[in-house]
Amino acid sequence: MTMKNIAEVLESVKTVGIGGHIRPDGDCVGSCMALYLYIRTYFPDIDVNVYLDHPKPIFGHIECIDEIKTEADDRVFDLFITCDVSARDRLALAGELFEKAKKTVCIDHHVSNQGFADINHVQGDISSCCEVLYGILDPEKVTLPIATAIYTGMVHDTGVFQYSSTSPETMRIAGELMKTGIPFSRIIDESFYQKTYIQNQVMGRVLAESILLQNGTCIIGYLRRRDMDFYGVEGSDLDGIVSQLRLTKGVEVAMFIYETETQTFKVSLRSNGKVDVSKVAVFFGGGGHTRAAGCDLHGSMYDVINNITAEIERQLAEEEDA
Ligand code: AMP
Ligand code: MN
Ligand code: MN
Repeated sequence: MTMKNIAEVLESVKTVGIGGHIRPDGDCVGSCMALYLYIRTYFPDIDVNVYLDHPKPIFGHIECIDEIKTEADDRVFDLFITCDVSARDRLALAGELFEKAKKTVCIDHHVSNQGFADINHVQGDISSCCEVLYGILDPEKVTLPIATAIYTGMVHDTGVFQYSSTSPETMRIAGELMKTGIPFSRIIDESFYQKTYIQNQVMGRVLAESILLQNGTCIIGYLRRRDMDFYGVEGSDLDGIVSQLRLTKGVEVAMFIYETETQTFKVSLRSNGKVDVSKVAVFFGGGGHTRAAGCDLHGSMYDVINNITAEIERQLAEEEDA
């Protein structure tokens, strides 16, 4: 079931909770905050609250970002809305709030989303959750702060309007958002491209040590915990590495793995089109999109690399047979 306008689910609702996925990215923070700002502005009688894991400082330009609750409480909301969450178990700290809420809505764009709420507004072919959300807002009510949040999410999930998921409609909406006067150059530079010196050093090291497999069609980058500790970086410092790996000439699939805890790895997959990496990720209990997906795996680094590359190889072979 989908919605025409978010107002449909806000009727006679007094309290709303909003939540996103673990390790919230730009689309997740952008969509949650845009919805939060919209409800706060146009439904002043509703008590609205947004719950997210600590958002990165690069999202500091989004208005009211410091109003995000980074710890769950025991409230029972009339309505709980998830944004950019592909499955119930990705809901991070808001999991229990979602369970307890009287009614639930899921707004999302992941192809792997099976629908886990009472109302599931899921459009798997749309480039970002922010774009999906824009479709159910009144366009004339999208103010500069709301537009800034939406634009940030669109920029992040389309790789600055470059991934194949970017559509004419994506560009039309981006144009509408620009009309509100958003600082689009700054948003792109400061939240997407800019890296710290250390982040660049780490990216350089991962690229230097990357391995090419399967006749150069698959590239793998990795980072062990001890190396992350050496540089003093966290997972959130590693954004952009897998995208850079994907840009290697001849590569069909790029994979980047890093150790979140001893023998536990976060896997990021990117495809140039031949392989549906969401299938690979789902096979290992993760999810995502055709060209960008991920999963979390346990075991030695070599096991993780071997298992995933075997599955990629299988999919590449299937593709060649087809
Ligand atoms: P990432 O590589 O973390 O940037 O993730 C790429 C895409 O895959 C995002 O859309 C995520 O929502 C999705 N994804 C990443 N990790 C997981 C996971 N463990 N489970 C489900 N989806 C994931
Ligand atoms: Mn996301
Ligand atoms: Mn997204």
